Amino acid sequence: MKGKKSSRFLFVGGHPCLDFLNTQIVDEGKPKDLLTNYGDFLDWLSDAGVLNSHQSDELQKKWGKKEEETLMRSVKHFRSQLRSFVKRLPKKESASSEVLDEINRILEQRTRYLKVLQQARKFQQIWFHKYERPAHLLVPIAEMASDLLCNVDFHQLKQCGNPNCILQFYDTSKNHSRRWCSMNVCGNRMKAALHYRRSRGNN
Ligand SMILES: [Zn+2]
Repeated sequence: MKGKKSSRFLFVGGHPCLDFLNTQIVDEGKPKDLLTNYGDFLDWLSDAGVLNSHQSDELQKKWGKKEEETLMRSVKHFRSQLRSFVKRLPKKESASSEVLDEINRILEQRTRYLKVLQQARKFQQIWFHKYERPAHLLVPIAEMASDLLCNVDFHQLKQCGNPNCILQFYDTSKNHSRRWCSMNVCGNRMKAALHYRRSRGNN
């Protein structure tokens, strides 16, 4: 898992694209958006391993307030498009081409370039991203989405078994028996609720 353990975001999705969707949560029964502003988005990209600390510092002051706000509107719009798109994937419903067009439109910006680095006597190819416009920050997200569409078994895309939780995850467990976004958050809570009902003889 790429995400930092100390992060204030949740990296329980089993796939970076789902971790991105999981920046919208339900906290104590109320919907909560963990990406409230541009700073949050940069923090998420850092915690997800997309940006290093140098890039994140540089991007912090790179654009004006208006550009940041425009970007955040696109980020949230893209996230909500992706969320409904991903939810439909296991149901084999025909996917809307609108989202696919949007993913491809973002990918077309080709912000990546290859660099050859020398380490001792070996050479290594490493991809770097150029963030020259605010919209370029959406490219890594579109890459995560394209990876999800092309490399994931849609039957194992699941929503947390807690009816009050909206988190999604990719079940890579051996028997495909994973039910919760996280044992700590929902697993134990649901088990405790079940135990409570049983002990009161309601079950
Ligand atoms: Zn959950």
